[in-house]
Amino acid sequence: VTSLQTQHNTTHIFRSKLPDIPLPSNLPLHTYCFLKLPEIPHRPCLIASARTYTYADTYLASRKVAAGMSRLGIQKGDVVMILLCNSPEFVFTFMAASMLGAVATTANPSFTPAEISKQLAVSNAKLVVTLSAHVHKLNQHAHRHFFKVATVDYPPENCVSFPEGEESEVPEVEISAEDAVAMPFSSGTTGLAKGVVLTHKSLVTGVAQQMEGENPHVYLKEEDVVLCVLPLFHIFSMHSVMMCALRAGSAILLIEKFEMRAMLEAIERHRVTVAIMVPPLVVALAKNKAVEEYDLSSIRMVMSGAAPLGQQAEEALRNRLPNAIVGQGYGMTEGGPVLAMCLGFAKYPFPTKSGSCGTVIRNAELKVIHLQTSFPLPRNHPGEICIRGQQIMKGYLNDEKATAATIDADGWLHTGDIGYVDDDDEIFLVDRAKELIKFKAFQVPPAELEDLLMSHPSIADAAVVPQNDDAAGEVPVAFVVSYDLTEEAVKDFIAKRVVFYKRLHKVYFVQSIPKSHTGKILRRELRAKLARIIHNT
Ligand code: AMP
Repeated sequence: VTSLQTQHNTTHIFRSKLPDIPLPSNLPLHTYCFLKLPEIPHRPCLIASARTYTYADTYLASRKVAAGMSRLGIQKGDVVMILLCNSPEFVFTFMAASMLGAVATTANPSFTPAEISKQLAVSNAKLVVTLSAHVHKLNQHAHRHFFKVATVDYPPENCVSFPEGEESEVPEVEISAEDAVAMPFSSGTTGLAKGVVLTHKSLVTGVAQQMEGENPHVYLKEEDVVLCVLPLFHIFSMHSVMMCALRAGSAILLIEKFEMRAMLEAIERHRVTVAIMVPPLVVALAKNKAVEEYDLSSIRMVMSGAAPLGQQAEEALRNRLPNAIVGQGYGMTEGGPVLAMCLGFAKYPFPTKSGSCGTVIRNAELKVIHLQTSFPLPRNHPGEICIRGQQIMKGYLNDEKATAATIDADGWLHTGDIGYVDDDDEIFLVDRAKELIKFKAFQVPPAELEDLLMSHPSIADAAVVPQNDDAAGEVPVAFVVSYDLTEEAVKDFIAKRVVFYKRLHKVYFVQSIPKSHTGKILRRELRAKLARIIHNT
């Protein structure tokens, strides 16, 4: 029995074809990200519309912000909320928090006051760095006096200016690899959005897995100009653009707000070489007529992640940008974040198939388990993807139960994604076993919308499931038990309380919500019901 068990435990575990690397995992994140600074102080680091910051400028500005935040009382372990669009100040604040041993929690500036309030309450942030335009949302928080607000443009009443002090004032802080440094929010496999505690070790490991050594996963080089159009508040851009590009010594072209022509113009003007994108942007680049008016020949690579990319879109973009490598990465906030990455980037002898989201990263183990028995499955059998390695999150903030449900006793992170590994080690995602809905690449946690629906006095029960959508990938739709509401009334009720991508696209009134004997919503049943409804209309 023992030998059989051992066999079970070691077979069907997938590792990178590349050898493991020594991990610089004892360095604090900011030290690691700025390792190239002495070699390239004068290279452009952040290209923003107002000005370009060199590596030396960026480091110095981050130190000054660290000094300013220290003056405001921010200490090791404190949480700082960054509520900003892509901007140099986002990078400075993030790196400054790391320098102080503080933790940056990032939020979408388009969130409603209620959504921001929830994240403030859960994360217990001491300082919020934002724009004056968002201050009214923060002022609605019940415990506004618990945190300070610093604005990067000008300070309205009850706010302070963007913190800047003297470089010499930055306190010496002892940072250990296990200290938290970033805390983006994610709903993971179930429930509401939770604080994902990422330590210096997780993120340094995560960047090293991509960027160190002789490695075809290395997708950024010093001479690259990297497009930063995806919001830095989401882990994909925060990690795969900001941290990886800094480590590589690349220039980061910051696009504050997506607008197709402005983005194309910026790509042409700054000779962007690497475009990190999400599927709707890949589709736009592949299909939008405006693209033909711009010279995009500088792009050598387009990397898509965070949501499923249709094979057709991938191939259409390859035809449009014949000189560029088009590939996918697969990540999850809790995964630190990258699980798999295409090996095709360096034209390595493993060409990547369309639809594959790459092969497992180095210094990590991946397995695919049976959904019911949890036994590891062999190649070509779909099951739940699990990953183990130093890069994964430490856990959810103050939520041992959710942490234990996601990272098992052997250290495996259960992704809730269904996929398989093929004969060439390539990973294909086929479905999601978790509740999460992804509108474009944005998270829509059904539990959050269900809680809101249930707060309505005329709603007796509710469930939210994804509906496939050509433009967004998925949109949330609700099944609702109510005898006196109209569809519009339910939609409006939600729309007033959530950011645009969480709005309900359709409401179906039903007699009851199917539940298991333990009271869990039978989501598969509702998804099947939805498929039948759509099929019949
Ligand atoms: P987030 O934590 O917001 O990055 O969401 C993570 C989830 O996005 C994953 O668990 C997947 O369900 C999905 N995802 C990420 N990358 C891909 C990809 N390349 N293809 C399909 N789904 C993806």
